[in-house]
Amino acid sequence: MSTQVKFIADNNVGKLARWLRVIGYDTILFKEKDDRSMIEIALKEDRVILTKDNQIGKRRLAMNGKLKVMLIKQDNPKAQLQGTVKALQLNWHFRPFSLCLECNQILIPRSRAEVQNLVPPYVFKTQEQYMECPACHRIYWQGTHWQAMVKELKHLARGC
Ligand SMILES: [Zn+2]
Repeated sequence: MSTQVKFIADNNVGKLARWLRVIGYDTILFKEKDDRSMIEIALKEDRVILTKDNQIGKRRLAMNGKLKVMLIKQDNPKAQLQGTVKALQLNWHFRPFSLCLECNQILIPRSRAEVQNLVPPYVFKTQEQYMECPACHRIYWQGTHWQAMVKELKHLARGC
């Protein structure tokens, strides 16, 4: 499958959506109740549906191949990520940490000077590189949380 694959995650796999964003895959999270609008978005934007609901894949649109549905069987979000990467042959090193984990937007590099008043002083002192989400304006940097995620990703990728 192309590395350009995009996803729409059902609300029942929200943490998986976040992990896919960590490695850089465009993943929107569907929070409404009505499956039909999730299916409409998936078809319109050519997104693979990720869901734990085994009924969606049984729809006619899925059966004839128009709708792409990946049924998630694991309960653990990290196992879900491993399963999805494996099944769809995704790339663990696609473009890690390039998307906002909250809103799926592509992050924009910011200089130290630009974020001086936006990050805690201890961060400003120790970090050189920053990224900003154009939607929620959250600032990202390579701090301890980032390091923990890098470590976790390495660990997960090895387990595949
Ligand atoms: Zn954001």
